[in-house]
Amino acid sequence: MNEFDLIRKYFSDQSVRRPEVVLGIGDDAAVVRVPAGQDLVVTTDTLVAGVHFQPDADPAALGHKALAVNLSDLAAMGAEPAWFTLNITLPEARAGWLAAFCDGLFGLAREQGVQLIGGNTARGPLNIAVEAHGLVPAGEALRRNGARAGDGIYVTGTFGDAALALMHRFGKAKLPFADFAVVATRLDRPTPRVIQGIAFRGIASAAVDVSDGLLADLGHILEASKVGARVEIERIPLSPEYRRQLDRVGWDPALSGGEDYELCFTVRPERTAALLEATEALDWGIRRIGEVVAQPGLRAVNADGREYAPVATGYDHFRS
Ligand code: ADP
Ligand code: MG
Repeated sequence: MNEFDLIRKYFSDQSVRRPEVVLGIGDDAAVVRVPAGQDLVVTTDTLVAGVHFQPDADPAALGHKALAVNLSDLAAMGAEPAWFTLNITLPEARAGWLAAFCDGLFGLAREQGVQLIGGNTARGPLNIAVEAHGLVPAGEALRRNGARAGDGIYVTGTFGDAALALMHRFGKAKLPFADFAVVATRLDRPTPRVIQGIAFRGIASAAVDVSDGLLADLGHILEASKVGARVEIERIPLSPEYRRQLDRVGWDPALSGGEDYELCFTVRPERTAALLEATEALDWGIRRIGEVVAQPGLRAVNADGREYAPVATGYDHFRS
């Protein structure tokens, strides 16, 4: 067995078997059959060592996150994750590292019922690219461009925890150990909001997943929909761990820290009842943080209506 046969062995876990997968790992390409009446939703995301994570990062967390960030994109489309491919470039084949990486990767894959159907393995600087495919009833995918003036703006979960974890890791904040453990889990092992995204089909007028910062990603909805928004920052949900730091770090990590992997979406006023019904049945919190307005631009305001100017606006890989 050569090195890459060994690697392939690690990636051959087929404990998830989807009925639509006609041919999985092992041939020149995979074959899938998209069920009649469904649209295929496709997304890809890469994690690069030194950019998205430190080279000595926990491999189990990397395996989880490489898939999680893609499932988060599918969730934002209202798609049910179905299968994925993995393109991995590794400096060396280390059994311990690979086993841990696969634990994280397949742990989430099994939880979400997604099957690894193929990929590629190469030697080089560590780089992990996943392409994930999901299914949605034809025509029902959630898009960024459906928001209209008067729609409510809602979010799942809490914001800024991942940013706080990064600040702590880089010495820019000092959290009590127990609090750091909680926010570090949010950074390293984000939970893609898959059931939420599916539940928002037919209810949300627009949706996006928050990876680059709440204001930046809400901005994508506004731009695509050619509308503006008024967001009341004090309505943005924070974890208890973040609340304990609020006096020290302010609202910026929650507004523009990024890596939250929550959903931000808009709902027409007449669909509010349907939204509440869907979310109450599932017992997870969503919060209304503002409203879509006709005038372009995003205004963030304090509880007393004063304009709040965030220091930074989201992450941009190519900003000079
Ligand atoms: P080829 O040279 O024909 O492209 P490979 O030898 O690269 O095929 O791969 C053989 C099989 O192993 C293919 O089905 C491919 O999808 C799968 N494979 C290779 N690397 C990975 C990986 N990292 N994860 C999942 N499947 C992989
Ligand atoms: Mg081939």
